[in-house]
Amino acid sequence: MQCFSYSYLFQFQLQTALLYDSVDLFGKAIQHLYSKQTVFKPSMSCESKDPWVFGESLINIMKMDFTKGLTGPIRFDEYGQRSDILLDVIELRDDGFIKTAFWNTSGITTLNETKIEDIKSLSNITFKVGTCINPPYVDYRPNHEDYEGIDQYQGFCIDILKAMPEFKFDIIIHDTSSRCSNGGFKNGSWSGLMRELLENRIDLAINDLTITQERRSWVDFTQPFMNLGISILIRKQEPPPTDYFSFLAPFSLEVWLYVLTAFLGVSLLMYITSRITPYEWVSSHMCETEPEELENQFSLGNCLWFTLGSIMQQGSDLAPRALSTRALASVWGFFTLIMVSSYTANLAAVLTVSRMESPIASADDLVRQTKITYGCLQGMSTCKFFEKSNHSTYQRMWSAMESNPGVFVKGNDEGIDRTLKGNYAFLMESSSIEFNMAKYCNLTQVGGLLDQKGYGIAFPPNSPYRAVFSNRVIGLQESGKLDELKKLWWVENVTPVGGVKCVHHKKADAVAALKIGDVGGVFLVLLVGTGFGCLLVILEFIWKTKKVARHQRVSNWTTLRNFCSLLIIAH
Ligand code: GLU
Repeated sequence: MQCFSYSYLFQFQLQTALLYDSVDLFGKAIQHLYSKQTVFKPSMSCESKDPWVFGESLINIMKMDFTKGLTGPIRFDEYGQRSDILLDVIELRDDGFIKTAFWNTSGITTLNETKIEDIKSLSNITFKVGTCINPPYVDYRPNHEDYEGIDQYQGFCIDILKAMPEFKFDIIIHDTSSRCSNGGFKNGSWSGLMRELLENRIDLAINDLTITQERRSWVDFTQPFMNLGISILIRKQEPPPTDYFSFLAPFSLEVWLYVLTAFLGVSLLMYITSRITPYEWVSSHMCETEPEELENQFSLGNCLWFTLGSIMQQGSDLAPRALSTRALASVWGFFTLIMVSSYTANLAAVLTVSRMESPIASADDLVRQTKITYGCLQGMSTCKFFEKSNHSTYQRMWSAMESNPGVFVKGNDEGIDRTLKGNYAFLMESSSIEFNMAKYCNLTQVGGLLDQKGYGIAFPPNSPYRAVFSNRVIGLQESGKLDELKKLWWVENVTPVGGVKCVHHKKADAVAALKIGDVGGVFLVLLVGTGFGCLLVILEFIWKTKKVARHQRVSNWTTLRNFCSLLIIAH
């Protein structure tokens, strides 16, 4: 039997790992000292008899500076001896290396991890469960004062515990304020539930406790009972004010003016060309071989009508006969084809963009702008993800957050409040985002998941109960109980603020549902156009009446009366 640092078993011998840790610690201490004062003078010599004045400080820094090395936590007692050493004792058995005990300065402790068959003996133990008030995971039950023990609480995590009726639990709310935390590692020590576990004040911790590598090297976790990832929570954009003329938006004013000019120019050109070409001048009577009078179908009005018909994709009864006019008509046809297709394509895009629930669609969008600030729960796993990421976008996000520490929040409630006020994006875990989106209808998630991880139940290191609970979690997963509880606490038991169930549009729905405001302008144009047509018909009627009256030498009124009676007879 030999002692190794367990996680590096196959990479290093203990001596190598110890050497590595000592050099690393010495290097860090020098760096620390050097950052505070100039300790190396050019004249300093190794042969000098006087002791180096900073030697004492260096030793003190090494004693104080608490890090984690290959051989576990590096901490020294007042005599400079390594304390808090924890060595795993492993044995080579038929089925491979098995951890059978651990050794620390107070002696060797043999591990007899509780087997699943030993559950009966566990039913006599009451487990002290550390948690926080953090809906929907753990919350007080309404009128909780009337109840006792675990019945005072409700929530997803509480229901997981209740789904293991063979065990007894005593719930301990670690901190009743909204700052209750799962635990962050700072200056060599843990806070929150992690600390409670390590100091053996609780037997297990359950909450939205993310399994991270850093935590995993201090405590043990069960299999994850929920999978999730980091995402972005943001307030939905206010719907844009109704714009009756949004149908004009696909083209800029400049383009519309160019189209109008092209329309008038081509109509005029058509008119001139048709006048010049002899092939557009034809007899009005088809059978006449030597006609006295020739007709040209392309009057100025007809030219305008012809080009307009092309823009509207409707065509007209006019058909050019000459090559020149046909060429002109073809080019104009091609121009209108491209313009109309571009208009149609852009109209859909413009309307979709104006309906999008948020101006931000991804983490990259957040980095590119400065108007919306973003932050995360200080010291917790989401912040750690950005702090440690090698991805350039997330590194830039971390630098932006670090340079403006006001963006960090102390609790999820604070993050939600800030997001609701606007101009703030909260980097949160998808499970909590989902819950808050069901509660606050004007909050939305943007972008996908930035990582993948899970929540687990945490136990003090080498806890004999971890395996049993892990097994129970797998059982709950396989039986569908966890999915059932998720639905209960994320959908059925959520009370939306405002009383109405939140509906979050998918982007595809947003394109389909055009409201009258979006197309109102088109109706307005139609109304004005038909009004104008009616006005013209009245003017035409008056004009013709006057002309006939003059020709027949009767009064305007007589002609008008005759016309009206003709109209009535015609009907
Ligand atoms: N689940 C996280 C943790 O255990 C807290 C929430 C967060 O960081 O977004 O650290």
